[in-house]
Amino acid sequence: MQPQSSAEDLIDPHGRTVRDLRISVTDRCNFRCQYCMPAEGMQWLPREEILSFEEIERFARICTEHFGFDGIRLTGGEPLVRAHLPELVQRLASLNVDIALTTNGATLRLHAAALAKAGLKRINISLDSLRRDRFLELTRRDELDRVMDGIDSALSAGLNPVKINVVMMRGINDDEIVDFARFGREKGVTVRFIEFMPLEAGDVWNESLVVPAEEIVETINDAIPMEPITRGSEPAERWRYTDGNGEVGVIASVTRPFCGNCDRVRITAEGQFRTCLFAVDEFDMRTLLREEADDNKLVEAIKAAVGTKWAGHSIGQVNFIRPSRTMSQIGG
Ligand code: SAM
Ligand code: SF4
Repeated sequence: MQPQSSAEDLIDPHGRTVRDLRISVTDRCNFRCQYCMPAEGMQWLPREEILSFEEIERFARICTEHFGFDGIRLTGGEPLVRAHLPELVQRLASLNVDIALTTNGATLRLHAAALAKAGLKRINISLDSLRRDRFLELTRRDELDRVMDGIDSALSAGLNPVKINVVMMRGINDDEIVDFARFGREKGVTVRFIEFMPLEAGDVWNESLVVPAEEIVETINDAIPMEPITRGSEPAERWRYTDGNGEVGVIASVTRPFCGNCDRVRITAEGQFRTCLFAVDEFDMRTLLREEADDNKLVEAIKAAVGTKWAGHSIGQVNFIRPSRTMSQIGG
């Protein structure tokens, strides 16, 4: 595709300009987090169904060059189980957009330096407990030490910021809120607490498991005083510690959804385009990519899909329809 002198804004029916692409590079994972995957029995996509690096790069190029996207996040499944991921990062870095990655961190120590060298700037590492027994119970893997090494490797590789994603669940890890806040301050990483969403493989979600963002903020503030930071377009509400030692974020996807500012779209590992994490419709971009459709066809397909982006999800309301895919299959 020829670089466009001026990009076309990709505006959805609710007036939001879409600029952020989440790319799932695999549906596979080396963990089995309770809230995301069953212990056994996941059916992985056959290799040939997964988009190649060339196909991902072409799709991303259209988004950045034609529509002026300014952010790309790689996710999965676990993105680091995809072989040669730094090669993809390098290809995407040539598009001159902000490249980020979300990982469970288990093998990050092996890859952090190569990823940074390839052009990765920012990283989010998921970690839901600082206690070994609980970490094992939640992820069904005894890998807490490796994740901790991964966090250190990300910092040593110069990735900045390093953020820690913590999914908060009532009665499961909500007694670790302040421990996580202290951990973030000591390590020099930004902890972001995420409300538990109904995207898990089993049918365990219910509203009583959600720890509201407001409660998380109050709990931290009682122990370590904080003040709000003015919010931008990002989903996290941010707070800084009044002693100047760091900040914390809360993503209130359930109790205070950020849908009004949502600028995201997603493409799954097998090339299905989604306009919302909770979307029930998908748009097949892989067929177009593999039929060698010209760029205009892809541009029109992306516009048509974004034309269906809804105003927001309706978690907790009677009309909420749970997506048939889990978070690991969509790409969180
Ligand atoms: N495997 C990588 C990881 O765990 O970071 C990337 C994919 S994972 C699906 C992306 C993020 O989604 C993780 O931070 C994970 O904790 C979060 N997540 C998964 N299931 C969730 C749920 N039901 N509610 C809220 N967050 C969830
Ligand atoms: Fe794997 Fe991430 Fe899902 Fe955990 S949350 S099972 S690490 S994809």
